[in-house]
Order: sequence, then structure tokens, then C-alpha cells
Amino acid sequence: MAGCSQPADPALHRQFFALGTLVDLTIYGSAADTAERAATDIEQLFTRRHADWHAWQPGTLQATNRQLATLEGFPADPELLPLLRTANRLSRLSNGLFNPVIGKLVALWGFHSDERPDGPPPDNDRILELLRQNPSVADIALQDGQLQSRNPAVRYDLGGVAKGYAVDRGIELLQSHGIDNAILNAGGDLRAIGHHGDRPWRIGIRDPRGPGVLAAIELGDDESVFTSGDYERFFDHDGTRYHHIIDPRIGYPADTVTSVTVIHTDAATADAAATALFVAGPELWQTIARQMGIRYVMLIDHNGTIHMNPAMQQRVTFDTAPADVRLSKPL
Ligand code: AMP
Ligand code: MG
Repeated sequence: MAGCSQPADPALHRQFFALGTLVDLTIYGSAADTAERAATDIEQLFTRRHADWHAWQPGTLQATNRQLATLEGFPADPELLPLLRTANRLSRLSNGLFNPVIGKLVALWGFHSDERPDGPPPDNDRILELLRQNPSVADIALQDGQLQSRNPAVRYDLGGVAKGYAVDRGIELLQSHGIDNAILNAGGDLRAIGHHGDRPWRIGIRDPRGPGVLAAIELGDDESVFTSGDYERFFDHDGTRYHHIIDPRIGYPADTVTSVTVIHTDAATADAAATALFVAGPELWQTIARQMGIRYVMLIDHNGTIHMNPAMQQRVTFDTAPADVRLSKPL
């Protein structure tokens, strides 16, 4: 999670709820009427996508999932198609640790609900049954706009990438209005373009185990910062925390990490990579980061140890010097 430092005199600052989170747009150094028009367009874009991409409310994605389950070929929704292509590609690059078709598993864990998730965890037998069916993007044929699954267990859940994808489209929209300096922040995950006057945008990374900010990062022109954390959606049962990021290899919440922060140019890649590296954990994150083309990673494991690559270490400024830092080889 990251928060923006607010400029003293932004051209525009707008907040609204969409995609299950608070979206916060700051535009700097543009004419007020241009900024105003762009902000209205962004709000419309996010609100529309909220319905289209929702994993458990009626909309395009739900209809697509229903058609996939028939194992018949059908024409994909043209607005959804590029997002599905992006999700499938990022899944392959992550060796399936980011797996956008484990919707049945996420639902079994109770995370497909507007209510606060609650225990107890699902029966192990039901988890094993879904694992045996092994839904993967390799089960999906996507050609000439036609979509077909050969595995009845495939269900898209785009919760690990849709926010990033929407932020990318939002930034394109701003640029089409001629806006060069802005931050589009969706629930702490963001993409920034340009700068704030004569200084770079500066953002904070949330402490996964405290109320405050752990570290600050200055952003270059056009960078995204995305964090996946076990504190975002979870329930506690018999002293164990069960959160919303599921390890597709075992069917249980990934349990070695509390948060992963990734910097990358495009937000969709940063979003999927943060989820994938959360699952990868302290042993595997470097391999998966390299495959996904990620150059900056900070991962906090269950013992509070901070794992970073050297390029990331050079960019973060900690509020309090961390007790235990483990530097990896360069990515
Ligand atoms: P994020 O906060 O970006 O890490 O995304 C977490 C959301 O992605 C969850 O709420 C689920 O909807 C979905 N999800 C959970 N586990 C995975 C996974 N291994 N791969 C892809 N999406 C996942
Ligand atoms: Mg993600």
C-alpha cells in the first residue's frame, strides 16, 4: 500500500470508489478545465469496468465464465479480450503462480463476497478436488477473438491484475487529454507520470504490520508501484490468518510473506507480479521476477526480514532503519 504526498496546489484532486477501492487522482500543472474533463472520463471508465470485470457480480466477466464452463467456443467480449490476453501472458511468465483462472478456489475460500470474509477454512477434500482439476491458462484457446476452455474448472478471477490494467487505461486517457503530470492511485497501488513541479513524485509504502509508512520512494517519469499484502482481505480462525492470495500449487493462502512491493512501468505487469511474487516467496521470487521482467522488488517475509534487489535498495528511504535486510543478487 502506498499513499501520495499531496502537492500544495494541485490542478485537480478527485476521489471516488470503484473496483472495490478508493481511487485517488491527482493532476498537476494542467489547465483546470482540461483536468476536470479528464477526471470525469476516468471516473466513468473505472465505474464501467467495475461492473464488467467483477468476479462475483453480474457482468461481462461472469457471462464469460459461464460460457467457458460449457467448453464450447464463443466470441469473446471485445472490451474484455485485451485484459484476458494480458492476464494469460502474465500467468505464463509467472509459471502459473499468478493464476487468473482459479476463481473456483478463491470462491471456495469465501473471498467472492461483499461481506467481510469469515472462517472456518473450507474442507481439505474440496480444496484437493479443485487442485486435481488443475485449471490453468494453458487450458484456454484464444484465437481470432474466439474463446474456448477445455477444462470445466476454469473460472476467471481478475482480482490480481484488473486494478493495474484499469490504471494503465486511465493513464492513457489522461495522456490523450494532453496531461503530462499525474498520479492515478487505486487503493494505494498507483501509476505516476511526469513530476510534481520541479521535484519527482514521492510515495510511501505501507508497513504491513503497523498503521504507518515503512519507506518512501521517489518515482521516475512513468512508473507504477503495486503492493500485494496479507492484510488486505483475510479472516482469522483458531489463531491462524487466512488471506486472499492463494498459492495455486497447494490451494491454501500463500504463507511465507506479509507483503511484496514491485515497481514497473506498466501497472498491469506490476499488479500481476506483486501477486505472483507473494506466492513465490523468499526462495523463488528472484526467478519469477526475472521471467516477468521486473527490476525492483521489496518482499517482507513472515519474520519481518526485508528482501530486496540492490537496485530497489538504492531507491527506498526507510523511516526507521530496518533490523534485518537481505540483499539478493542483481535481477
Ligand atoms: P492482489 O491484491 O493484486 O495480490 O490480488 C489478490 C486477488 O487476486 C485475490 O483477492 C483474488 O481475487 C485473486 N487471486 C488470489 N490468488 C491469486 C493467484 N495466485 N493468482 C492470481 N490471482 C489471485
Ligand atoms: Mg496483484
